[in-house]
Amino acid sequence: MTQITCLHPAYIIPIEPAATVLRGHSLVMQDEKIIAILPESEARQGYPDANHILLDKHALLPGFVNLHAHSAMSLLRGLADDLALMDWLNDHIWPAEKKHVSDAFVFDGTVYAMVEMLRGGTTTVNDMYFHHDAVARAGLHTGMRTIVGCSVLEFPTGYAQNADEYLSKAIEAKNEFNHQTGVSFRLAPHAPYTVSDDTFHKIIALSEQHEMGIHCHIHETAQEVNDSLKQYGVRPLKRLHHLGLLSDRLIAAHMVHANEEEIVMLAQTGVHIAHNPASNLKLASGFAPIHAMQIAGVNVGIGTDGAASNNKLDLLGDLRMAALLAKAQSNNPTALDAHAALKMATLSGAKALGMDKEIGSLLPSKFADIIAIDLSAIETQPLFDPVSQIVYAASRNQISHVWVHGHCLMFNHGLTHIDEEEQLDKAHWWQERIANQVTH
Ligand SMILES: [Zn+2]
Repeated sequence: MTQITCLHPAYIIPIEPAATVLRGHSLVMQDEKIIAILPESEARQGYPDANHILLDKHALLPGFVNLHAHSAMSLLRGLADDLALMDWLNDHIWPAEKKHVSDAFVFDGTVYAMVEMLRGGTTTVNDMYFHHDAVARAGLHTGMRTIVGCSVLEFPTGYAQNADEYLSKAIEAKNEFNHQTGVSFRLAPHAPYTVSDDTFHKIIALSEQHEMGIHCHIHETAQEVNDSLKQYGVRPLKRLHHLGLLSDRLIAAHMVHANEEEIVMLAQTGVHIAHNPASNLKLASGFAPIHAMQIAGVNVGIGTDGAASNNKLDLLGDLRMAALLAKAQSNNPTALDAHAALKMATLSGAKALGMDKEIGSLLPSKFADIIAIDLSAIETQPLFDPVSQIVYAASRNQISHVWVHGHCLMFNHGLTHIDEEEQLDKAHWWQERIANQVTH
């Protein structure tokens, strides 16, 4: 049976058309789709029998797209901080993952991360981890739109023994869940320094055969670039270009170290960037030249990275950080203005995933992935410009309502079908287990 809901907010920030704020308008959704955005009086007259929801202190936006995450790592949050990337990975994260990562860990950790993300207005996550089927099940359980990035490495983990096994498990998981709404799959070679040329060739072939996008950490640190120069005689991006990896199917996470020639290469090949400002700052990886990339026409979205290196899965906080960093890094206060920052966290992320016809903005015929943010708090008044308040002043706690694929997952700050107490119990259970095993 078809259900029509009319939302009557104070503001609609549709992202498309660009830099638009609608006042006195309503959004109408039918089942999973947005069907109209029109003046409130017309919506009330035209849809008298609909479910009418008054949001007169709120702005409506498309849900945020988290373009780079390792959701299950939420269970490792705060386990080891204040370290360089390779020390952090080699001495802490990879050993902890080796001990604990299992189907149950990934399912529980991914659901837990998704609860945090949904509460903060993120409706789509582009994940990268192991136990691909557990990530997919977590997405179906929470209702979050989930892109399962199937990690591929040369070395063994508890999940697979070698690159071929990671790849075969990726295709298996994709085939098992492909028909499910809201879940899709990408191949996720971990990084140029953990994946061989041979495996990259296989990934390119499988990506074409199965129409799967690719998601890879690239140029995260200066060390990665220097090591590649020693080992291969070229910087990683050039090596990947020679292998044929660079295309609009690729999302490059980080790209902190990009020179002018590389920015042109990214623009010409259509590679999308997942910018992770908080993770890059915390690991002192450097400052991605986001403003220069945007001028060159490179599409950039925003990611949180894993909760062990951010440590918040807070797209609203991170888009503010991206705006501030872009200004500082380019020595230009007009860089990444408030509207552009919101677009980066929504439509640009959707475009990177090849989903910009379906999500990322509030337009009739798109899926109803929508959030409402309450701007009546002390922190966001007086209100001259809702976009300025959302980007520079609001916090994620002000996000009050979330719909994904037309389903209401949070209403007036309360999750509609996930028990938060139960989630906290699970986090405590894992904490005990991980803390005990780490110290002994
Ligand atoms: Zn990452």
